[in-house]
Amino acid sequence: MNLRFHPYTLELRHRFTLATSSRTSTPSILTEVEQDGIIGYGEASMPPYLGENVESATQFLNLVQLPDIKSSADISGILKTVDALVDGNTAAKASVDIALHDWIGKAEKKPLYSMWGLDPTKNPVTSFTIGIDTPEMVIEKTKQASAFKVLKIKLGRSDDKQMIEAIRSVSNQPLFIDANQGWTKKEDALHMIEWLSSKNVQLIEQPMPKSQKEDMAWLKERSPLPLIADESAQRLSDVESVVQLFHGINIKLMKCTGLNEARAIAAKARKLELKIMLGCMTETSCAISAAAQIASLSDWCDLDGALLIKNDPFKGAYLSNGSIIPTDLPGLGLTKI
Ligand code: MG
Repeated sequence: MNLRFHPYTLELRHRFTLATSSRTSTPSILTEVEQDGIIGYGEASMPPYLGENVESATQFLNLVQLPDIKSSADISGILKTVDALVDGNTAAKASVDIALHDWIGKAEKKPLYSMWGLDPTKNPVTSFTIGIDTPEMVIEKTKQASAFKVLKIKLGRSDDKQMIEAIRSVSNQPLFIDANQGWTKKEDALHMIEWLSSKNVQLIEQPMPKSQKEDMAWLKERSPLPLIADESAQRLSDVESVVQLFHGINIKLMKCTGLNEARAIAAKARKLELKIMLGCMTETSCAISAAAQIASLSDWCDLDGALLIKNDPFKGAYLSNGSIIPTDLPGLGLTKI
C-alpha cells in the first residue's frame, strides 16, 4: 500500500473568530493511499489550537509504512500500529485512517455506511456555525443561514448576550452554543446557561476550561441544558473521565485519529449513557464525507466544515433537508473536482 501526501491551505469564506483566536485559513494535508490501482483519499485538518501543523504532520507521515490490505479486517490492526508510532499527531493519523477506509469501500465496491450496517437517512440535522463578529455581520450571516435547522454560536467573550440578542432579532432557529472554554467562573457560567435556556438553546459545548474539573462537576449538577465535552475529551481513553462532568461528548475525527476510534468512542459513550455529538474542524468534503458515514450514531451533528471553505477539492456528502448525507458511491462517496 502506497501513501502519498501534500499540504493544502483551506481558504475560509469568513474570518473565523473563537473565544481565543481568529484566522482566515486552516492548514491541511491531503493524503492518498493506493493499492491494486485503487486510490483512497484522506485529510488532516489542523486548526492551530490543536497543536499540529504541516511540518509536524509531514514528519509523522514520513514514518508511516503501510502493508498491503487483503481484507477489511486488516485495517484496525494497521491503524493501531500507525497510532503507536508516536504520541499525538491525531489529525495526521486521521488522514491515514480516512484514506484507508475510502480505499476499502472502493475495493469492496460499497459505501462505508453500508459495510457497517448504518443508515444515513437517520443522520441528525447539522448545525451551521455563525462565527463571532459585529452584531450587524452576525445578523447578516444568520439571514444567510436560513436553510439550516440549527445554528451553532461561538460564545465565551464579554458580548455573549449581545450576540444572542442579535441572532434572535432575525431568527428563532434552535441554537447549539460553544463557549470553547471561555467562561472561567462557575457561577457566571450557570447564570449564562440559565439565561440561554430561555432562548431556544439545545446544548452547551465546553463551557469552562478543561483544567477546571471541580467547577464542571458543580455546573453539571445544576445546568438546565446538556453540557458537551469537546476540548476535555479527545481520545477513547478520555471518555470515562468526563462522565461526572458532562452529559455528552463531541467526537471529531481530527481529535480521535479517525473513523476506527470514533466508532469505538460512540460505542463506549452509549454504554456510559453519554450523549453523542459528531463535530468537525474546517475540513474539505473528504473528512466531512467520512464523518457523514457514521453520523447516524450521533444525537447531534455539527458537520458544516466543508461549507465554511471556498476551495473544496472534493464533491461528496451534501446538505439534504438539514442533514449532511453521504452519496451512494463506494468508500466515502467522493468525486475529485
Ligand atoms: Mg467545540
